Amino acid sequence: DLPVIYLVTPTYRRPEQIPDLTRLAQTLLNVPAVHWIVVEDNSALSPAIASLLKRYGIPHTHLKAQMPEKYKKSKLKPRGVANRNAALDWVRSNCKSGVVYFADDDNTYDIRLFEEMRFTKKVSMWPVGLVTKVGLSSPVVNDKGVVVDFFDGWMANRKFPVDMAGFAVSVQLILEKSDVYMPYVPGHEEDGFLKKLDVSPADIEPKANRCTQIFVWHTQTKSNTPANRTTATGKRYKGTN
Ligand code: UDP
Ligand code: MN
Repeated sequence: DLPVIYLVTPTYRRPEQIPDLTRLAQTLLNVPAVHWIVVEDNSALSPAIASLLKRYGIPHTHLKAQMPEKYKKSKLKPRGVANRNAALDWVRSNCKSGVVYFADDDNTYDIRLFEEMRFTKKVSMWPVGLVTKVGLSSPVVNDKGVVVDFFDGWMANRKFPVDMAGFAVSVQLILEKSDVYMPYVPGHEEDGFLKKLDVSPADIEPKANRCTQIFVWHTQTKSNTPANRTTATGKRYKGTN
């Protein structure tokens, strides 16, 4: 039996939410042995998401976890942190083996990525395209297949300057480090989490042909103004978005 990939997707209400989740659902239809943990940043579970999950028949868990009120007003928000931490609790209560991957709803995933991460022993990593203005975030791998450095457009004194989409962690490690969560520090969620997991660079399993291939992109869906919105004056919005 294949190890199960527990794919954690934080999501929040906006006009692009269902389109983004539809695309991700249709990606996951092509992936065997996946369990999709969709965690809404919302006070209640959305019926539209519940029906989407039911319709596609992908094994799933539908949860909610709101961003703490004190972060909602800040300009730089710890986006998706409460959601991912709720999923870590769920994994710790329900799973014995497999791999955890944090898959945001708006990224683009090549299905080959999932077979790269499937047999992760501790932590595996690979490149992510379209991260920062330089367009790439990646581990740097030497000729012995060891991660010796990182390439990222925003190093920011991080030990692990990687994107959320650029690594997976075994369920075993998440169970061993039972008190580790993602920190509420915008920009430092990945680094803080990996440091607390006590990962050493030598533990990292480089994937995607020694980190030479891109199987995931940090795409961002532009925000849209639905055409049936009314303006402040009550008039129908005339734009084409
Ligand atoms: N997200 C969330 N609550 C928010 C903002 C974002 O749950 O208030 C989710 C979002 O759906 C995505 C993840 O957190 O899966 C990262 O957010 P986003 O894609 O906006 O961040 P970026 O890619 O710009 O860093
Ligand atoms: Mn995003």
